[in-house]
Amino acid sequence: MIDLFRYRDGIVLHLAALGYAVLGWFCGITLIVAASPIGVICGILLIAHALTISAYLIHECEHGTIFARARDNDRLGAALAWMSGACVAPYAGLKEKHLRHHADRLDVVSFDYRAVLHAAPSWFRTAELALEYAYIPAVEYLMRGLRHCQVDDTSRCP
Ligand SMILES: [Zn+2]
Repeated sequence: MIDLFRYRDGIVLHLAALGYAVLGWFCGITLIVAASPIGVICGILLIAHALTISAYLIHECEHGTIFARARDNDRLGAALAWMSGACVAPYAGLKEKHLRHHADRLDVVSFDYRAVLHAAPSWFRTAELALEYAYIPAVEYLMRGLRHCQVDDTSRCP
């Protein structure tokens, strides 16, 4: 089983995330069907969070980082995509578009935001951290904003 996974140190965390996503999805549906108003609200919140975790796992599958073999990543990605609404966007299409996104555009992942944050004043790092704790993707906005400066005109970069 250890050889099934790509990274040995990720086995427990990947299984925990996968278990939470699947169980959260089933339990959320069960709560909604129970039809008590509090159950419906809790069920909706649980499904939303479980599908968020599922979306992160789909992203990992697209990059082939969960299992050692691409075929296994694709199978899990397809199952999670089905759980998340594959009738709207099948996994194969999601994977193709996502990998093209990385290949055809400047890959924001290759941008070294850590170096920018380390060079920034401490109040800025604290603000970025506070926004991230509030689930506002401040580092993502930073990366996208500076990425355009980096590509178009370096004189506009801070
Ligand atoms: Zn990606």
